[in-house]
Amino acid sequence: VKRKERSVAEYVEGVRNNDRTILAQAITLVESNAAKHMETAQQILNELLPYVGKSVRIGITGVPGAGKSTFIEAFGQFLCEQGHRVAVLAVDPSSSITGGSILGDKTRMENLARHPRAFIRPSPSGGTLGGVHRKTRETMLLCEAAGYDVILVETVGVGQSEFVVRGMVDFFMLLALTGAGDELQGMKKGIMELVDAVVINKADGDNKPKALAAKEEYNQFLHYLRPATPGWETKAYTCSALYSEGIEDIWRVVETFVTVTKQSGVFDTRRRHQLKDWVYAMIKDYLETSFFAHPLVKEKLPIIENHVMSGTKAVTQAVQELIAAYESR
Ligand code: GDP
Repeated sequence: VKRKERSVAEYVEGVRNNDRTILAQAITLVESNAAKHMETAQQILNELLPYVGKSVRIGITGVPGAGKSTFIEAFGQFLCEQGHRVAVLAVDPSSSITGGSILGDKTRMENLARHPRAFIRPSPSGGTLGGVHRKTRETMLLCEAAGYDVILVETVGVGQSEFVVRGMVDFFMLLALTGAGDELQGMKKGIMELVDAVVINKADGDNKPKALAAKEEYNQFLHYLRPATPGWETKAYTCSALYSEGIEDIWRVVETFVTVTKQSGVFDTRRRHQLKDWVYAMIKDYLETSFFAHPLVKEKLPIIENHVMSGTKAVTQAVQELIAAYESR
């Protein structure tokens, strides 16, 4: 039996009432690349615009095994018990590049997934990271309209995904492990300039002294960096996601951050800039897709590419020819 298609009004009302079936269907619409679905999705988002933006958006990154899903489960459950409503989204760089998933969300966070105040959405698949970017942002707006007041966006620190997530959240945290020395010396130290907190996880049992030492190391390092958020000092903290220790303290840090940045105006300025950046990101995404999908470009590209590689055509000329082909319609 083919399901009758819902009207925009039905979607809007369903999302507003936090009807989880309708919310999930609205997200599926938002994630679709079909022109027809995109149009309906945009109408829904437009109607919901007055109800978005009233959440705290928190990004969480860290290498596989750092304990992101364990942390989100503990943190999410704590927040739900405090009366919050928590939505968990993921930006999985691998799903857009290889089709596989690093985050592998299916079996994760089972307890939180069952909590009536939580909503977990696996990462959208398909498309460029730019496309995933759009989908995650719009999914975030739908969740806000449904009344979720804490949005957790999870990502693995691979490629550009950290920048993408930093560009869509208010507070960004790195979940780290002990052995800070290795990480601080490695390629990953650029991430430290993006985050508002470094949370050293697995501070339990035999590992606890090492975690505390790592905290000191991180703090010394962070002290000399330009903070990711003006007027906020990025510091290191410890927790044990597995035993739910230190989870409440992390939430207090987030609350303080929100208070401080709202008072200074940094919170709203960042959100406005994020909207502007989103506009440019979408334009780039659209143009790139439309360029490479253009029939003449598709036809000429392999030929011109060969000319360039064999040294018979200069790069600038090659590019100009392709752009002329694109503009010829
Ligand atoms: P993710 O890949 O970052 O999502 O990491 P997971 O949450 O899947 O955790 C990886 C492994 O570390 C799992 O075996 C967890 O049980 C374990 N783990 C996560 N958090 C803690 C913690 O606070 N303490 C200890 N001892 N183990 C943890």
